[in-house]
Amino acid sequence: MACRVLFDKDAVITCPFGPRVHPVTGARSSHNGVDVVGAGHTLASITAHTAGTVEYAGYNAILGYHINIRLANGDMMQYCHMTKSLQAAVGDAVEEGQIIGTMGSTGSSTGAHLHFGIQKDGQWIDPEPYLYSDYLEDTMTYEDFKAFMDRYEAEQAAKPVSDWAGKNWNALQAEGIFDGTKPQAPLTRQEAAAVICRLRKEK
Ligand SMILES: [Zn+2]
Repeated sequence: MACRVLFDKDAVITCPFGPRVHPVTGARSSHNGVDVVGAGHTLASITAHTAGTVEYAGYNAILGYHINIRLANGDMMQYCHMTKSLQAAVGDAVEEGQIIGTMGSTGSSTGAHLHFGIQKDGQWIDPEPYLYSDYLEDTMTYEDFKAFMDRYEAEQAAKPVSDWAGKNWNALQAEGIFDGTKPQAPLTRQEAAAVICRLRKEK
């Protein structure tokens, strides 16, 4: 499977996200993205990891020719050190997999590579887990979901219930209205009307 930021190629990581000594300045700093080249240390066209709107496309001395793409969820993806021939401009809507430029070595760089960054809620995060996978996809695990539902149910149970509603609810539950034993699911219109009338009568 091809890496999502390289056209039709797997990625070789040449520098991971995190603390490092900068190869040009020698200063200790934090590397706020991941550096990749194509499989076999080859060059590649750069493709948009995720669809979004081009917020910046231009040059500076550090990042070289680079493109910032704002995603639908508000996060940002950044592609740096490309050659001058950028293939997307500010305001463009780009699709996932669309070619946006060519791997290069512009700006503060010691060799052709792509520096790819992801800014989530304004903070740079490690993009490596997403090189081959969807970024916006809901990745909640079953354990997360279960914990969420337990919290939700505890919150609901803790909410105060008026006497009349609580009494009727308990009576209807005892009659089997809510557990599917009586009536047969789904609730018929007559049964729904009976529940509403009963609640209204005691209001
Ligand atoms: Zn980098």
